[in-house]
Amino acid sequence: MTAGLDRLRGGTPPKRHNARTIAALTGNPGCTRRAVLDAAGVDKPKLAQRIGFPGSFGQSRFALARGNGFEAMLKADDCALLRKVLTECLQLDAAGGYDDLGEDDDDTLTARHRRTRELLAGAAGAALIDHPLLTLDVAGQRVFLEPDLIALQIEGRLHVVEIKSFAIVDGQADSAKVSAAAVQAAVYVLALRRLLAELGHDPTLVSHDVVLVCTENFSLQPAAVVLDVRKQLSTLQRQLARLASVSELAAALPGSVSFDLALGPADLTAALRHVEARYAPECLSACELAVYCRHEAAGSTAALGRPVRDALGGVDTVAEALALAAGTAEPAEDQVEAAALLRAAARLRAELA
Ligand code: SF4
Repeated sequence: MTAGLDRLRGGTPPKRHNARTIAALTGNPGCTRRAVLDAAGVDKPKLAQRIGFPGSFGQSRFALARGNGFEAMLKADDCALLRKVLTECLQLDAAGGYDDLGEDDDDTLTARHRRTRELLAGAAGAALIDHPLLTLDVAGQRVFLEPDLIALQIEGRLHVVEIKSFAIVDGQADSAKVSAAAVQAAVYVLALRRLLAELGHDPTLVSHDVVLVCTENFSLQPAAVVLDVRKQLSTLQRQLARLASVSELAAALPGSVSFDLALGPADLTAALRHVEARYAPECLSACELAVYCRHEAAGSTAALGRPVRDALGGVDTVAEALALAAGTAEPAEDQVEAAALLRAAARLRAELA
């Protein structure tokens, strides 16, 4: 991390990323505020709290307990149930080996990462690798990542397996949850590919097809689906590359801008205003600063979502949009198209009223 980014964080230690926070980086790739804060390792949940706009993030205790119970059931008896599900969808060798790299409780992360490297450096011995530990560099920080499992398919292809406790009901699952799981799995695929490349292996041996193991139809019976995460991988790579170059943005900020959590709410809010945000309703499920940014963006058309922002290009505020719709304001040259749309919508609304 550069000195400029360290300066922005002040005396507060950097917040460490994990697979969830890295996955969330893809939520709003166009937002400079988020890129700067993440690259500087600012603790966004604490910052949001300090300025009086806390968010509610994280899984409920009930969801965590259900998830842990489901995973324990799948992995009991040398992963008997998990093997059965994976055999069906990956043609995994059901009799293949099982390596649990996390069995030593007093282990350090570095030791577990070393064992993961050693296992992957050698010939593909195990069919299932449990508790592997991977790393990924995020804005100069080395982040440790723990996929649920790596499965080796026949012919040496590696697949990331994610275990989630949400349900697939009649073949359908909550699309927001599935896409969040897909991005998180893409983080592991990227970390695994980089590790294989470091070890001198072909990184494309790590498949872009990941396996999601969920519960089925309100029971705790498992069901597996294969997801292609190529799109998520390219967004993730773009966003990580952008974070790496964000130090130039940080260097261009005035010297007085600081996100040191020892500062008062007024100073922190003033500092935030120096870094451009791009609020969209999707932020509410992807970024800890969403409540503040929504408050800040109130009255802007962008706050109503991307479809509205795209349709009303050039019309920045709701007040302006209402005036154009009512015909009480003349559109500027770049607002003519949007104004015609707004007037047509207003006419239709009046006819229906
Ligand atoms: S909540 Fe704010 S900082 Fe976070 S991504 Fe959205 S606009 Fe950017």
